[in-house]
Amino acid sequence: MGDYFNVADIFGENVFNDSVMQARLPKKVYKKMREIIENGAELDLATADVVAHEMKEWAIEKGATHYTHWFQPLTGVTAEKHDSFITAPMSNGKVLMSFSGKELIKGEPDASSFPSGGLRATFEARGYTAWDCTSPAFVRQDAAGATLCIPTAFCSYTGEALDQKTPLLRSMEVISDQAVRLIRLFGNTTAKKVIPSVGPEQEYFIVDRKKYLQRKDLIFTGRTLFGAMPPKGQEMDDHYFGAIRERIAAYMKDVNKELWRLGVSAKTQHNEVAPAQHELAPIYAECNVAVDDNHLIMETLKKVAGRHGLQCLLHEKPFAGVNGSGKHNNWSLVTNDGVNLLEPGVTPHENIQFLLVLVCILKAVDKHSALLRASAADVGNDHRLGANEAPPAILSVFLGEQLEDVIAQLISTGMATHSIKRQMLETGVKTLPDFRKDATDRNRTSPFAFTGNKFEFRMVGSQDSVAQSNVVLNTIVAEAFSEACDVLEKADDFNQAVHDLIKEYAVEHQRIIFNGNGYSDEWVEEAARRGLPNIKSMVDAIPAYTAEASVAVFEKFNVFTKAELESRVEIEYETYAKTLNIEAKAMIDIAGKQIIPSVIKYTTALAASVNSIKTACDAADVSVQIELLQEVSGLLAKTKAALKKLMEADCVGSSMEDGRERAVYYRDVIKTSMEALRAPVDQLEMIVDKDIWPMPSYGDLIFEV
Ligand code: ADP
Ligand code: MG
Repeated sequence: MGDYFNVADIFGENVFNDSVMQARLPKKVYKKMREIIENGAELDLATADVVAHEMKEWAIEKGATHYTHWFQPLTGVTAEKHDSFITAPMSNGKVLMSFSGKELIKGEPDASSFPSGGLRATFEARGYTAWDCTSPAFVRQDAAGATLCIPTAFCSYTGEALDQKTPLLRSMEVISDQAVRLIRLFGNTTAKKVIPSVGPEQEYFIVDRKKYLQRKDLIFTGRTLFGAMPPKGQEMDDHYFGAIRERIAAYMKDVNKELWRLGVSAKTQHNEVAPAQHELAPIYAECNVAVDDNHLIMETLKKVAGRHGLQCLLHEKPFAGVNGSGKHNNWSLVTNDGVNLLEPGVTPHENIQFLLVLVCILKAVDKHSALLRASAADVGNDHRLGANEAPPAILSVFLGEQLEDVIAQLISTGMATHSIKRQMLETGVKTLPDFRKDATDRNRTSPFAFTGNKFEFRMVGSQDSVAQSNVVLNTIVAEAFSEACDVLEKADDFNQAVHDLIKEYAVEHQRIIFNGNGYSDEWVEEAARRGLPNIKSMVDAIPAYTAEASVAVFEKFNVFTKAELESRVEIEYETYAKTLNIEAKAMIDIAGKQIIPSVIKYTTALAASVNSIKTACDAADVSVQIELLQEVSGLLAKTKAALKKLMEADCVGSSMEDGRERAVYYRDVIKTSMEALRAPVDQLEMIVDKDIWPMPSYGDLIFEV
C-alpha cells in the first residue's frame, strides 16, 4: 500500500533506449547507431567503443556492477554469464571500471554446456555471442545487485546458430525483403522495410508458495503428477474476467512496475478461464524485441511471485482436468512508415494488396501447416493441443464472416464485388451508446485466427519462447510473397495477373479455412477429409523440421541450414525424453516415499480402529470400515504394481541412447505407465483422510491463493 507512482516517470528508466542514446552519445555516434539499427549497417569498433563506454557509465549510475550477454540458447530459457566491470587493480590499489566496444559486441562463453544437437564437436567448445543492437540493453536490479544485460545472439565457431535469436533475426530480414518487393508492385516507393510486429499474450497460474513447496512434483517438473479434481472446478466460469483478488492485485502491480521500468509495455491483465489463472499482454513490438520482452515477462512473473509468498507456474498444464495455459502470438506486418499490411480497410474486397497478402498467408499456412504445428510443439503443450480446451492439433485459419464471404465470392465468380458491412450493436439502454460491431465475431477455438488487423497464432505453449513460431511464420510467408512477386513482376497486365493469382491461391488453399468450432469431433473428421494433418504429439511433430519442403524454404532464404535443422530435431527429441524421464523419476519418488507410506498409515489406523471397536463391542457392525479397508488395500496393491512397472520401464528408457526411438519409447511406454500409476493414486486421494495425505490438494492450490 501507499506505493503509488507515475507510470510515465518510471517507464523505461532502466533501458538504454533511443532517448538515452540520443542524450548521451556524441551526435555522430548516435546517427551511426540509428543507421545500424534501422538499416542494418555494420557496427565498427570505434563506434562500439564509444557506445560501450556510455552504456557502462549509464549502467553504473543505475548501480550496476556487472554486465552480461543475455542470450537464448536452445534450452528454452535465457542464459547469462556475469562479468564485473572492474579491471586489474592499479598501483594505488584502486580498481578501474571499464567496458570496451569489443566486450560489448562479442562475448565468448564456453558453449559446451549448451545443447547444440551435434553441431559442435565436444572438443570445439567455442561459442560466440554477438550484440543484437536492435533490442535495447537494460539494467536489471534484484537481490543479486544491478546488472547491465546486453541482448545477444549466440553462434558456434563456424557460424551456426545455437540459439533462438539468430534465426529470428535472419527471418525478419527475409520477410522484410519479400514484403517490400510486394508493396513496390502496388506503387509503394517509400517504405524501406517491413517489420513483423508481435504481441504475445502470456497466461500463467499463481499458487501459494508454501503449498507449492509441499509438492515435489511442482518443484521438479512444474506440473502436478498426481491430484484428484476438486468438487468445484471451472465449470462455473466465474473466474474468467472476475474481480482480481487483493493479494494477486498487489502482485500484479509489482510485476507491472518492474516491467515498466524495463521498458516492457505490460498493458492488460485479467483473470483467465481456470481458477488461479491469469493473463498478461504487452503492447506489440518488433518481433525480436517482443520475444526478448516475453522472456523478461516470464522471468519477472516468477521472480516477483517469490516476494509475495506466491509461486508462478508457467507450465502448459499444471493441473490435469483444469484449463491449461498458452501464449497467443499476435502477428502483423507493418512498414517502417507505419502501414499495417494486414489492415483490410472498410471494404476489403476493393483492397487488392490486402487480398494478395491474405491469400499468400493462407497458402503459406496450408503448405507448411505441419511445420507451424512443430514450431509450437513442446513437452507441456502435448497436454493441451488436441484436448478440447485449447486449439486443436489441426491447423486451420479463421477468417471471420466478412473475409470468408469475400474469399467465397472470389472462388465462385472470380470477382469480389462487395463486403458484408459492420452492423450496429444496439444495447437497448438509452444511456449506453450503440456502437458499430466488428465485422467479425471472435472464434476462440481457432489456432490461427484473423482478428481485425492481425493474425493470432494460438498454439504456442505458455512456457515456450515465441521465437520459433515467428521464425516459421516469417519465413513461410516470405516464401509465398516471393513466389507471388516472381509471377507478378513479369506480368504484362498487372491488374489481370494479380486478380488471377488471388483467385488461384484462394481456390487452391481454401481447405485451410475453417470458421466453425475447432473443439468439435466433427471438425476432426472434416479435417481428415480435407487432408489436413492432425499431429497429436510433439514426437510426431518434430520430423516436420527436416521435411523436404521445410528444408527447401529455410535454405532458400538462409534462415537455417539443413545441419542446423537436424541439430534442432535432435535437441527436441532429447528434450522430450529428458523431460518425461524427470517426470517419471519424480512420480516414482513421490509414490514410493510419500503416497504409499501415507496410505499404509491410513490403513493401519483404520484396521486398529476396527479392532478396538470389536474389542469394545463384539456385536458392533464394522462392515463399512472393513469395506473401506478392502477398497483402499485394493487400490494400494494397484499402486504398488503400477509403480513397479513404471520403475522397470524407466530403467529401460534411462539406458537408451538419445534420439527419436527413445522419445517414442517415452511417449508410448513411460507416459502410459505414468497414467497407470496416477489413476489409483487419485482414487486414493478421494478416500484417505486429508490430514494423512502427504501434499496439498488441487482445491488447496487453486482456490486458496
Ligand atoms: P485481443 O483482445 O483481440 O486478443 P488485444 O487488443 O488485447 O486483442 O491485443 C492482444 C495482443 O495483440 C496485444 O499484445 C496487442 O498489443 C497485440 N496487437 C494488437 N494489434 C496488433 C498488431 N497490429 N500486430 C501485432 N500485435 C498486435
Ligand atoms: Mg487474444
